[in-house]
Amino acid sequence: MCRHLAWLGRPRSVSSLVLEPPSSLLVQSWAPRRQRYGTVNADGWGVGFWTEGREGPARWRSARPLWGDPSFASVAPVLVSGCVVAAVRSATVGMPLEESAVAPFTDGRWLLSHNGRVDRAVLPPVRDAESTVDSALLAALVFSRGAGALGDVVREVGAADPAARLNLLAADGTRLLATTWGDTLSALVTDEGTALASEPWDDDPAWSDVPDRSLVEVTPDGLTVTALT
Ligand code: GLN
Repeated sequence: MCRHLAWLGRPRSVSSLVLEPPSSLLVQSWAPRRQRYGTVNADGWGVGFWTEGREGPARWRSARPLWGDPSFASVAPVLVSGCVVAAVRSATVGMPLEESAVAPFTDGRWLLSHNGRVDRAVLPPVRDAESTVDSALLAALVFSRGAGALGDVVREVGAADPAARLNLLAADGTRLLATTWGDTLSALVTDEGTALASEPWDDDPAWSDVPDRSLVEVTPDGLTVTALT
């Protein structure tokens, strides 16, 4: 089970999101606090973000554990963005171990991370998946349906595979969309912006837990949560 996070708000360094907090994604890669499935997230990591003057997200992924990438630690403080998606991976049994299987996935416009698992046999055939990993097939399905259909896709796939876990996190540079379906997600709304994360990266009491089977939308105007029934 992976851990992921996203930020929408005032531009800040990737380091302040991914490396610096006391329970950052870096720490979560070996000591997650709320992870229900798996114990370490050592099968790769990725980050994508939007910057001024560039259309579409920039992305860096690696098949190594986040703690095994010291060069990133020197670059992350100067990567500054107002919209970021990052993830650390614990590969599901039987899934490929390769950089292209690591979130976030992209269609050039959206970034998408999947925390969970799904039986690939229930997914309709999709074009342009980045990998054969279940998460990449799911991402390609969401991209083909349009991110606005995120809730519908999760409902349909969840019905086709009742054992599926489908916590998705997507961004297009101007908004975040997320689902909870089988795993944890927390939200932090501040004057500077909004964070969504599989688990809080610190003990700030302002973090709130998103109920299971929810659809979350974050825009510059705030956060809305609707039940996915
Ligand atoms: N099923 C996905 C993979 O194998 C995601 C795993 C997870 O959430 N731990 O990468």
